[in-house]
Amino acid sequence: MQPSGPPATPEERREALKEVLARARVCTRCPELAATRKKVVFGAGNADAELMFIGEAPGASEDEQGVPFVGRAGQLLSQLLEEIGLQRADVFIANTLKCRPPGNRDPQPVEIENCSEYLMRQVELIEPTVICTLGNFSTKLLRNDPTGISRLHGQPEVIQIGHRAVRLYPIYHPAAALYTPRMLQTLREDFGRLPELLAMGPPEQPEPVEAVPELEPEVSPQAQQEADQLGLF
Ligand code: URA
Repeated sequence: MQPSGPPATPEERREALKEVLARARVCTRCPELAATRKKVVFGAGNADAELMFIGEAPGASEDEQGVPFVGRAGQLLSQLLEEIGLQRADVFIANTLKCRPPGNRDPQPVEIENCSEYLMRQVELIEPTVICTLGNFSTKLLRNDPTGISRLHGQPEVIQIGHRAVRLYPIYHPAAALYTPRMLQTLREDFGRLPELLAMGPPEQPEPVEAVPELEPEVSPQAQQEADQLGLF
């Protein structure tokens, strides 16, 4: 795998991202999830996106297709994006967990911990300006704090992830808004402030520091080739 730290060019970052995908696709850190998943749902969209969404975990449809947010919550996410003039191809969408928890149970703390290295590396390589966390799990993980989404939604803050500062924007999870009109209204209002946040550009960046270690062990050339063929980003 490449040396750690952010590779210089978009092409190098895309190649490094494919390598992370190849590793995730053969991951067995969570034995139950590895045994029950159909597909690893790594993430999809624009690898150079300014805006990244992080949901909770794949559901049944995502597990079938290997693509995040393709079920009903995903349709709502696509609709809300369109309402602010964006397409899914403009953004990158990922999850806190890359594998579906059986029966759509909540992600367990150990699973979130196991999977966080993949997510942090994605963020490091995509270099988004704004990260929109959808719901409690990704918000708590990125803020490293147990404060819930109902207190935090719609309030941007600058946080540091790896070597970079990003604008974090927690909002309700679209699945939670599907059946609750008031929550949908709040989600839509919070979504409506995204263009303004993106227009602010990147926050002030910290001084460069030593890069984070890479994932181990190496993946097989076959896994790398399969990742290349996925063409998700
Ligand atoms: N909910 C999520 O959090 N992620 C998905 O990919 C689908 C539904």
